[in-house]
Amino acid sequence: MNILNLLLPAKCVVCASGGEQLCTGCRESLPLLLPPLCERCGAPTAWPVARCRECSGRRLAFASARAAVEYEGSVRRFVSAWKERGLRRLAAEAAELVVSAVPPPRVAMLTFVPPDRERVLLRGHHPAERLAFELAARWDLPVRPLLAWTRAIPHQRGLSLADRRRNVAGAFAPAAMAPSRIGLVDDVYTSGATAAVAASALRRGGAGRVDVITFARVVR
Ligand SMILES: [Zn+2]
Ligand SMILES: [Zn+2]
Repeated sequence: MNILNLLLPAKCVVCASGGEQLCTGCRESLPLLLPPLCERCGAPTAWPVARCRECSGRRLAFASARAAVEYEGSVRRFVSAWKERGLRRLAAEAAELVVSAVPPPRVAMLTFVPPDRERVLLRGHHPAERLAFELAARWDLPVRPLLAWTRAIPHQRGLSLADRRRNVAGAFAPAAMAPSRIGLVDDVYTSGATAAVAASALRRGGAGRVDVITFARVVR
């Protein structure tokens, strides 16, 4: 944790009002992603569909992806405070929001997109791992690291969808055997490229079905 965070009084990371790291007003106004959704990728849709415009025709190694909130203005501020400023208590807030919006996955275990060593050293914590542990406690599931990076990945920020896919292709390898039904946790679902590549590695490690759970999701 940044030393400044210990010295300064808590401020809401969204609206900067004093008191809590996420004030009640902001917590209640975050844009929850509620049905109807695309059954596969979790994009909001006008009515329930098996595949949507965003994911139809794409080979996705996961069976479903669900997120608590849309990645927009206030959620962006929340996520950047959580990830970049290392406000770890926000992982518990994120988990509460996931549990309120996403039904518990029918899986034997949770795992997470593994930490990129360089970024962990920079931040001193790994948001996806923390979120997986917070969710595992609430859903009464075990959590285990099952994936490893095969190489360093350049930042995804600012890349097109096609470039994101190329950027992460083959990025993960199974690090341990996966159970047949596994939940894969990450902080933000942007294009689904990372989730798909990680899910594919879990399937190589023995998983038959992978359900992805993230805190936030980009809505196109
Ligand atoms: Zn606020
Ligand atoms: Zn879809």
